[in-house]
Amino acid sequence: MEYEAVIGLEVHAQLLTDSKIFCNCSTKFGGEPNTQTCPVCLGMPGVLPVLNRKVVEYTLRTAIALNCKIAGKSLFARKNYFYPDLPKGYQISMYELPIAEHGSLEIMLPHGKKRIGITRIHMEEDAGKLVHAGDFARADCSYVDLNRTGVPLMEIVSEPDLRAPEEAAEYMRQLRNILVYLGVCDGNMEEGSLRCDANVSIRPKGAKEFGTRAELKNMNSFRNIARALAYEIERQQKVVECGDSVVQETRLWDEQLGKTGGMRGKEEAHDYRYFPDPDLIPLAVDEQWISRIRGALPELPGHKMERFVKDYGISENDATILTQDKDLAEYFEAVVKAGAPGKWAGNFILSEVLRELNEQGKSAGSCPVKPEQLAAMHQLIEKGTISTKIAKSVFLEMYRSGRSAEQVVKEQGLEQVSDDAAIRKLIEEAITENPKQLAEYLSGKDKMTGFFVGQVMKKSSGKANPQMVNQLLAEALRKRKGGT
Ligand code: ADP
Ligand code: MG
Ligand code: ZN
Repeated sequence: MEYEAVIGLEVHAQLLTDSKIFCNCSTKFGGEPNTQTCPVCLGMPGVLPVLNRKVVEYTLRTAIALNCKIAGKSLFARKNYFYPDLPKGYQISMYELPIAEHGSLEIMLPHGKKRIGITRIHMEEDAGKLVHAGDFARADCSYVDLNRTGVPLMEIVSEPDLRAPEEAAEYMRQLRNILVYLGVCDGNMEEGSLRCDANVSIRPKGAKEFGTRAELKNMNSFRNIARALAYEIERQQKVVECGDSVVQETRLWDEQLGKTGGMRGKEEAHDYRYFPDPDLIPLAVDEQWISRIRGALPELPGHKMERFVKDYGISENDATILTQDKDLAEYFEAVVKAGAPGKWAGNFILSEVLRELNEQGKSAGSCPVKPEQLAAMHQLIEKGTISTKIAKSVFLEMYRSGRSAEQVVKEQGLEQVSDDAAIRKLIEEAITENPKQLAEYLSGKDKMTGFFVGQVMKKSSGKANPQMVNQLLAEALRKRKGGT
C-alpha cells in the first residue's frame, strides 16, 4: 500500500513591537528576570489589559500580504489552562472570531508553484519562561521568569495542503521571508522568535478522508522541520502496517536522537473552556485602516524577484536566491545602483560574496566590502586594470582588510598586463620551454592551445590580459605551423 502525507503548520511569530501586547512593559530580550513586568502582565486581580495598536497593525500587514479576508470585528478570548509560567491561569488569544481568515501563500517547488491555504491568523500573548536549575529530573528547583509574559505573538495556521516534508520546509522558508520583509518579525528560529508546530497524518494514496494527526513541537530550523516530519511519516506508516492506529497526540522532536517521542495526549478545544474575554471590547478594523496599511506595504520577495529579472536581466533562479534574503537583495541592488551591471553583480555576489558571508555566518548587511566598493572594483575590471580572475582575489583581500579595490591592486601589483610586447615575450618562452607539447600541437592536437594559455597565465601570475593572450598565442602558434 502506498501512503500520502498530509501536513498543516501552526506558526507562532513574535512581533517586533517595543512593548507588550496589553501593557507598556518592554519586550526587550535578555533583561534580568522579572524586571520587565507590571501588574497587568503579572496577572494581578483587578487590572485591565489595553490592546497595543502596533500589534494589530503588524498583524494586518501580514494578513494583507497573505491575501486574507480581514474581519471587521474580531474578539479576544480566554484560553484556560494551568501552568506555572502562566500567572493568570489563562492566555488571551482569539478563538471564534479571529482577525483574519481564508488567505493563501504561493510556494515554489521543483515542479512548479503551489498555493497553500491560510486558515486563519490571530493575535495572542506569550507565556513566561521556566528556568530549571540543578537536576530537573530530581526536581531540584525551577524559577519563573515573567519577562516574556505578554509579549505579542501572531499565530498563522495553514490548511492541511502540504504533502511532503520538503514542502513544509519550503512553506516555512517563504513565510519567514515574508515576515522579515514586512518588518513584523525578526525570523530568528534558533532564538524562538519564529516557532512552528507541524500537524501530520498519513492516508492511503488517493483516499479522500484525512487520517489521525500527530502534532510535532520543538523544531527550530528548516532542516529539523523536514527531518522531524520525515521521521514521523515513517513512524506512522509502521504503526498502520502493524495493524494499529495512530493516536492523536502531541509529540516532541529530539534533534540529537533524530526521533519524535510522545509528550502528551492532544487537548481538544473544549478542554480550554474558551470564552470571550470580558476585559477587552471587540476589535473593530475599518476599511480606511486596511487601505492605509495596504498602501504602505513594503515590496515583498515575490515582486522583488520578478522586478530583478525584468530590470537587471538576471535569471529567475538567481533572482530567487538573492531575494530569499532581504539583506542580500538590498546589497545586490545597492551594488547595481552604484554602477555595476546587474548580471555581473548577481553572479559575483552569489558566488564570491555569499561564500565569504556564509563561511563567517554574516549577513549581507554587515559585509565588510560595501556595495559602492564592490561596484568600484567592477570599474577596474571594466577598464582592463584587473582581470575577472584576479578580481576574485582582490575581493578576498578587500573583504579581509576593508581596503578599497584600488589600494589592494596597487599595493599587491595586481594590474593586468596588457602590454603587447610583454605578453609576446611570455608566449615565446612558453613555446620554447615546451617542445613536446608544441610537437603535439603541430601534429594536429588543437586543444594543446589551452595548455599554452595556462602556461602563459602562470608565467604572468594570472595577470596577463586573457583576451590578448588568446589572440597573440593563436597568432604565434599559427606561425609555427607555417600558416599565415
Ligand atoms: P489545534 O489548535 O487543535 O492544533 P488548529 O486548528 O489550530 O488546531 O490547527 C490545526 C492544524 O492541523 C492546521 O494547520 C491544520 O491544517 C492541520 N490539520 C488538521 N487536520 C489534519 C490532519 N488530519 N492531518 C494533518 N494536519 C491536519
Ligand atoms: Mg495545534
Ligand atoms: Zn506589563
